[in-house]
Amino acid sequence: MPVRVRFAPSPTGPFHIGGARSALFNWLFARRYGGTFIVRIEDTDLERSTRESEENILNALRWLGLDWDEGIQVGGPNEPYRQTERLDLYRRYADTLLESGQAYRCYCTEEELAAEREELLEKGEMVRYRGRCRNLTPQARAALEAAGRKPVIRFRVPEDYVIQVNDLVRSEVSFDCSGIGDFIIVKSDGIPTYNFAVVIDDHTMEISHVIRAEEHLSNTPRQILIFEALGWQIPEFAHVSLILGQDRSKMSKRHGATAIEQYQAKGYLPEALVNFLALLGWSPGGEEEVFSLEQLVEHFSLERVSKSPAVFDLDKLNWLNGHYIRTASLERITGLAISYLEKAGYISQPLTAKKYEWVTMLVALVRDYLDCLEEITDHAAIFFSDKIDIEEDEAREIMAGNQVPAVLEALKAKVTAGPALTEAGARLLLKEVGKELGVKGKEIFMPVRVALTGKTHGPDLNRIMAILGQTGVANRLEQAGAYTAVLKGRA
Ligand code: GLU
Repeated sequence: MPVRVRFAPSPTGPFHIGGARSALFNWLFARRYGGTFIVRIEDTDLERSTRESEENILNALRWLGLDWDEGIQVGGPNEPYRQTERLDLYRRYADTLLESGQAYRCYCTEEELAAEREELLEKGEMVRYRGRCRNLTPQARAALEAAGRKPVIRFRVPEDYVIQVNDLVRSEVSFDCSGIGDFIIVKSDGIPTYNFAVVIDDHTMEISHVIRAEEHLSNTPRQILIFEALGWQIPEFAHVSLILGQDRSKMSKRHGATAIEQYQAKGYLPEALVNFLALLGWSPGGEEEVFSLEQLVEHFSLERVSKSPAVFDLDKLNWLNGHYIRTASLERITGLAISYLEKAGYISQPLTAKKYEWVTMLVALVRDYLDCLEEITDHAAIFFSDKIDIEEDEAREIMAGNQVPAVLEALKAKVTAGPALTEAGARLLLKEVGKELGVKGKEIFMPVRVALTGKTHGPDLNRIMAILGQTGVANRLEQAGAYTAVLKGRA
């Protein structure tokens, strides 16, 4: 049987980490086995579904690099791919089940159902529909309809029946039907429920493997019952474990960003997220943690998807993202960084060629320090303002050194008199200052670093000088000179 898998999001809000992981696992599985990846939209929750959310999800899938072979926007043999446009199909199969008696119309009101629920709760029994409308006579039905009651359609769950799910991740799971109760497959407004529509879609689209989140495991017996009732082949199921936060409770907003677009906005790269998501529940075995999409395709298998919950480790995501930021092409990272610098008000587009080259130098300098691109504005701040704050105690101590005023003065004179600063030129000037004043290494570099950046640690000093340029360096050295004079005065 050819591999055909699907991702079927409900467009009811932001696209979450968990959904993206389900999409990725399906995509990897399809690509690994030369199968077909289908994306369709489960929008039967009319109140909560929006086109905007649908667009967001599809854009995020594309951004992550998860293209689909059939489905929404791309078309295919099973169009349409939005459930609200497939209502006729669901109605047809609901009729089939009604005709065979495997489904029936139920006229119970909300109040009646609530009363039943209460009664069951009071008795300490499992809450379920007990089948009041299971065997209505045609006369009784006619009377209820005449009274204006709008029926739902319920599936007749067989009694004394146990359903086995051979889940590819969780192994054998069995469900006793006596706990299920006749469930609704079509609501009174004619809209199918998830459990019904999903089966019709999975069958008509010839889905071979249903790979989805663990929270749908309890829906699976209902879906299997419908497959069986319609005499259809049941796909394989693979339910992927929950994603937990560091405190081991279900991942939620409380633990930080949960939506893919939030990560995108912060400047996480798609390849970092894909790499990270793949390791949430799947492991290739071995120590390696950095995988490109191609490598993931090569290694992915459901056998190595874990039954136990995955823990969302932001440090690991940051580490991976930092890795990809450092190894991606400088041109690409610069292109992305520009929008953050622009948002911070540091630059405005269009950039001249010279300015672009300068920004590229800046990005090359600071990208090693970034967990995500958004952080570039902090690291770049010193290049956009001449005002340097010296706040660390260690930095103040350094500036109180006896040699400092002379070092700053000598360097300032050289920088001002010399040609435009380059990395090599800066190195030379620092060396010359050392030689002239008879001061060595640290005694020069540290105060100059503090004078230029306010900090005791950071990127390569020569490169910082080249980026700041003559005026930038001279201004800061001057300021720092005044600062040391104040320090002296106080001492
Ligand atoms: N619309 C469901 C969800 O977003 C999909 C469930 C399924 O894959 O069967 O969770």
